[in-house]
This record gives sequence, C-alpha cells and structure tokens, in this order.
Amino acid sequence: MKIHEYQAKALLKKYGVPVPNGQVAFSVEEATAVAKQLGVGDKKVVVKAQIHAGGRGKGGGVKLAGTLDEAIAHSKAILGMTLITHQTGPQGQLVKRLLIEDGCNIQHEYYFGMVLDRETSRVTIMASTEGGMDIEEVAAKTPEKILKAQIDPATGVGDYQINQLFFDLGLPKSAAKDFRNVVLGCYNAYVQEDASLFEINPLVLTKEGGLLALDGKINFDDNAGFRHPEWAELRDLDEEEPTEIQAAKFELSYVKLDGNIGCLVNGAGLAMSTMDIIKHHGGEPANFLDVGGSASQEAVTEGFKIILSDPHVKGILVNIFGGIMKCDVIAAAVIAAAKQIQMTVPLVVRLEGTNVDLGKSMLNDSGLAIVSADDLNDAAQKIVKAIGA
Ligand code: GDP
Ligand code: MN
Repeated sequence: MKIHEYQAKALLKKYGVPVPNGQVAFSVEEATAVAKQLGVGDKKVVVKAQIHAGGRGKGGGVKLAGTLDEAIAHSKAILGMTLITHQTGPQGQLVKRLLIEDGCNIQHEYYFGMVLDRETSRVTIMASTEGGMDIEEVAAKTPEKILKAQIDPATGVGDYQINQLFFDLGLPKSAAKDFRNVVLGCYNAYVQEDASLFEINPLVLTKEGGLLALDGKINFDDNAGFRHPEWAELRDLDEEEPTEIQAAKFELSYVKLDGNIGCLVNGAGLAMSTMDIIKHHGGEPANFLDVGGSASQEAVTEGFKIILSDPHVKGILVNIFGGIMKCDVIAAAVIAAAKQIQMTVPLVVRLEGTNVDLGKSMLNDSGLAIVSADDLNDAAQKIVKAIGA
C-alpha cells in the first residue's frame, strides 16, 4: 500500500526525522491559509502536488512561491491539474491534494532509501550523493555511487554503519546529529510501521548545514495490514485502480494489465503460468486474477464482472485446478456466473483435478457457448484463436 508524501512526512517526523514544516490542503482556500500561517512573504514556500507517483517536479507539480499571490497562483494551477509523470502513465493523475511547506536553501541533494533485501533477508539502507534524480539511472550507470548497509535485525543499526555512511557520503560535521536521526528514525519507522519501502529523494543538506527530508515515499507491506487498522485512514482510493479495490472486497487478487485476454485462475502460481502460456501462443493477458483455492460461485461471478469491466477484454480463459474444490462444483459456478452476467465474449475453460469428467460434461451440456479445453496448452491456443489474435 502506498501513501502520500505529506502522510509519509508526518510519520517520519514522529520518529525524529527532520522534515520541513507544512500541511496538506484540499482547496485553494486551505492552501492560502497554510501559506499565510507558514509566513509566506518573509520566506518562500513550496506548493507540491500530492499524488502517489513520483517525478512530479519535472511534470510541473512542484513550485516555489516567494509571495502569497504566487502561492495562490501555483495552488490554483496545480490543484485540479492532470499531472503526467514517468510513473503515472500517459493518462496522468488528477491532483486533489496539495502539500504547502517551508522552502529551504539547498546545498546538495542526496538519496536515502530503505528496502528489504530478499537475498540477505535484511533491511538494507541505500544512500547516494546523486540524489534528486532517478535512482534507477544511477544504479544502472554508476552503481558504485550507491552505498549500502545491511541491518542485522538482532542488533539494529550499528553506530559503525551510521559513521561509515556519513563519511562515505562526505557529509559535513554540522549534519552529524541530523544524519543519525535520519538513519535511526527511518529504521525504527520501517520496522515498527511494517514498511516495505522508504525513499527520501532528495534528502537535502541545507546551506545552514543541517539535513531535511524534502521528499518522502513510503510503501507498507500489505501482509501486515491486519495489525494496522490506522492504515485505513491513510488510504487514498482515488489513487488506486477501481477494479482492484472491488476485487479486494471479494478477496480476489486482481492486477490489471494491458492485453485483451482475461484470465480467471485459482492459485497464484497457476495464474502466472497461465499468463506465460498465453504469451507463448502470441496472446496478451488483460489481467492477473487469482480467485483463491476455495473459489465460491460468488467469487467467480465477481471475477467475471471485474474482468469484463475492462473494455479491452476480447475473450476469457478460465483455468482451474479442482483440488480443494471439485471440478463439478467449479463447473456449476462458472455456468451460473456466465448465465447471470450474460457473457458477450468467447469463454474457454480448462478444468483439471477431481471429478474433471463430470465438470466437463456439465460445461458441454450447459447450452452456453463455452469452449472446453483438454489442457493448458490447448486452452491457450483456443482462446488466442477465438479472439483472432
Ligand atoms: P518528485 O519530483 O515527485 O520526486 O518531487 P520532490 O519532492 O522530490 O521535488 C522535486 C524537486 O523539487 C526536488 O528534487 C528539489 O530540487 C525541488 N524542491 C522541493 N522542495 C524544495 C524547496 O523547498 N526548495 C527548493 N529550492 N527546491 C525544492
Ligand atoms: Mn523526489
């Protein structure tokens, strides 16, 4: 789960990470009030679009204002704009919230991030003197410029690790205390809040010699959601794919993709191999959809509805292994669901497992235009042929 920059900064602040003063605004009036309260005129403020995607600066979603009039003009321009960045896709994202915060005098922009390294099973700090720009580009072109420190979960961050990073980044003595607060604050927040990714890009050294987290990106680990009821308030459904929200209500794992063959599968591994084999036969999957091991008729119906709500879908491949649920039960669910929603696109069904013969004959006798397939290969070929790809 992703959260907004202003929410990430509030959380970082709670853990002692230095962040600029600022507040969220949902309207130009609110933005004006925050800018006044911060004392715009005597100092600069920054007006920042709050969307979950990065790259806002380049897209025109981050503007500096020296006067109240400027702050109002920037707020009017950014609020309600469709911001297009390299992370939003070409359709962009509508800006509904702003962060108005104190400006600062930047001496240098650093990168500071934290992620779980799955190879070592340890939270890993990544830091670089090349902040502000795309860290992926730095990693690709000059990987030696990314410093790393692996944190031992038993001992937490070692002082030697903080010192090492501090010297390797070439930070001045004046920033020592702030840097310590950044590292320890981020690590504590990462662990206690069940994060999966932290990115402060840039972490800036100010002309006054201190550090400030100027940007803040936090992703939470959804698997820990059960112990974080407070996440509900941080969620912004406007930033999420509506079909994925609907799928989550029925405990379906659905991820929308760009192709035109809808997939309804039970089990994540089977879903992935289904997508692979569709591609192998020249088709493009429209989605990943795992209805779960014990898919009910209700879940299957909802799965069909979600798949069909994507206008690009030209056909559906159902691939179910009848293990926990027997094939005849699944066939009944597919038939009932197909009848209820009046299937308008070709439907290929491949069943395997307990009571497979009974399941197949039920599909064949249903009177519906369901193409039954013998195996996965056959099923993929049939659906690709059916949509004329
Ligand atoms: P992103 O483009 O979505 O990553 O948004 P950021 O929050 O990282 O802002 C983009 C850039 O705006 C930063 O890299 C800074 O160079 C600049 N910026 C942000 N806040 C300030 C500020 O207070 N003062 C100045 N001078 N520049 C800022
Ligand atoms: Mn940034």
